[in-house]
Amino acid sequence: MDLLDLKGIGKKKKDTLRKLNIYTVSDLYNYYPTSFEDRSHKTNILKANPDKKSYFEWKIVSRSYQNRTRVGIITYLFAFEEETNQKIKIIWFNDRFSHQKLKVGDNYKFYCKVKSENGIYETVNPIFCELDDEQIGNIIAIYPLTSGINQKQLSGFIKESLKNFDKDEEILDTSILNKISFNTKLDNLNQIHFPTEKENLMAAKSQIKIIDFVKELIYIDYINQNLQRKQSLDLKYDLDNILGKLEFKLTRSQLISLKEILNDASKDQLMNRLLIGDVGSGKTIVAIIAMIIFALNGYQAAMMVPTEVLAIQQYEKNLDLISKFGLNLGLLTGSQKNKDEIKEKLANGEIDIVIGTHALIQEDVIFKNLRFVVNDEQHRFGVGQRQALGKKGEKVNYLTMTATPIPRTISLRLSKILDLSMINELPKGRKPITTSVITEAMEETLFYEINKNLDEGRQVYVVSNNIDADDKNSVEKLYKRYIKQFKTRNVKKLHGDMKAADKDKTLKEFAEGRIDILISTTVIEVGIDVANANTMVIYNANHFGLSSLHQLRGRVGRGQYDSYCYLVSKHADNMAKLNILVNNENGFDIAKKDFDLRGGGKILSSIQHGRNISQIEFLNMASEEIDKGFKIFDYLKANNFRGVNFSYVEKFFEMDKRIILN
Ligand code: ADP
Ligand code: MG
Repeated sequence: MDLLDLKGIGKKKKDTLRKLNIYTVSDLYNYYPTSFEDRSHKTNILKANPDKKSYFEWKIVSRSYQNRTRVGIITYLFAFEEETNQKIKIIWFNDRFSHQKLKVGDNYKFYCKVKSENGIYETVNPIFCELDDEQIGNIIAIYPLTSGINQKQLSGFIKESLKNFDKDEEILDTSILNKISFNTKLDNLNQIHFPTEKENLMAAKSQIKIIDFVKELIYIDYINQNLQRKQSLDLKYDLDNILGKLEFKLTRSQLISLKEILNDASKDQLMNRLLIGDVGSGKTIVAIIAMIIFALNGYQAAMMVPTEVLAIQQYEKNLDLISKFGLNLGLLTGSQKNKDEIKEKLANGEIDIVIGTHALIQEDVIFKNLRFVVNDEQHRFGVGQRQALGKKGEKVNYLTMTATPIPRTISLRLSKILDLSMINELPKGRKPITTSVITEAMEETLFYEINKNLDEGRQVYVVSNNIDADDKNSVEKLYKRYIKQFKTRNVKKLHGDMKAADKDKTLKEFAEGRIDILISTTVIEVGIDVANANTMVIYNANHFGLSSLHQLRGRVGRGQYDSYCYLVSKHADNMAKLNILVNNENGFDIAKKDFDLRGGGKILSSIQHGRNISQIEFLNMASEEIDKGFKIFDYLKANNFRGVNFSYVEKFFEMDKRIILN
């Protein structure tokens, strides 16, 4: 069934819905509200709080009048509230049409603020509807919108779509639902879009989240059991010899992870593994060694990273090591000059290992025999992009690396159903990073601290959340301020809008120690690695999530120096969140605290999908819900998934083949 078949949806509205990522009838009823407005309690004007919108019922008792004034057209009429025996003046500014919907002598529902002006009750531009309309008198779901559609229309479309609910979307049979005391998905959706009572609404949200999570668990298990493609691969390598060429000794958990990866790669099934490790734990080198081993066996390997800056850096950092094995390393990014040359060498097999951005998945990039793909920090990629790279080889093994902190309790349980390696220690000799939260007013002190570190020969990152907005802490404004403040130092800026060549140059200079202070957007958030930099200053710190802040902080503390992180907050209040970082240095602990603060995440999806952020927000789960999800999953698995509608599970993930770990 097409969206056009729904009442009220024409071609134009269909296009509008597309902007909300709604393409099908199912997308419509699976479009979750982000908040709710309780319009369910009727009150009267004597009891109502003048500062809050409330629900009233009034009779229209006059015709309407219009005045043309300097500020525009004012229309008004009078209504009467029986309960209190009071008259209310209803006023519209610059709205000549709404009043036409109100008939003298009829009763209507209103949702508005009412205040008393010189003894007359007044309301301005109220929301109103007929008595039998559900828009007022209920809890109302509020949806994210786009221009061309309003709440009422969207809600109406969703109501229509629910009449065409696809029963296949019930992934559990009624017998199972009864057993776990859950309602059907249809009932839950109805409750979410058209809530009747708060408790029911909460229960429905919770059940939808849990079942969605269970669906993912089932799917992971399903892939692992059924869909893995066979390969025959027999990698030959002398690990001691290879590790002997490194400048350092791998940590114990790096070594275990590496062996798990290599073990996968010599099984008869394709590798599909997730490597989780905190910022700075040394994931990259593990992947690089695995890539080297593939290459030494005559297969090509590719690493896809989220930013150009990072690609360049990884390339430069690993060039020497890879060359030591007589292998050719290539770099491929969107704005590179010798792209054609690189492409040719990928096609004829001259390049053994390539590091690049999404430029790697362009159609005209052809590999000779790609066999291993590493996605670094893949939560920045969409599912489709990741798949595209995998399609460039016949039998591609996948390794996904992420610092997305997954609370330990969850990852331990997850590891029973998916291939997961964890690096849970930092390389030896790392110094703790002293973190402080300061307010903008303390910038002078900050400058003093920065100067001290610069005097000792260290380098400094300064990060802001925006480039050039109307904010005194934008990259541009900070740049101006810092140049003035640090006249004798080399201050440079870096942001995503710069030309690749300039970014490249700036980054290189910073890595070589020729720039003292680098003022940047979060392009440096992922992966950048300069051991001499020991100071990280983050402006507008409150605008970042805890995990992002932790990632950013992880850019320092990579060498033998004491390191510092300053979180600059606009105001002295709301610092509680930032203090979590002061008191915790471990990403998992921070995730755990974040978890307690916000409720957990939709674990798998947050690793896998780079989309539907608001929906994921909606799907945030509390730890009891996650427990419940695992319980249901365990029960289903123990019963051979009897009562599970696999056809839908399969259909749902059809477009997302291999999203699980690639
Ligand atoms: P992340 O896990 O955040 O991607 P990286 O792979 O960037 O971390 O590693 C951080 C830094 O630690 C890099 O400079 C890397 O060379 C270094 N490193 C990795 N493993 C070790 C180790 N076992 N001993 C010392 N330094 C290491
Ligand atoms: Mg990294």
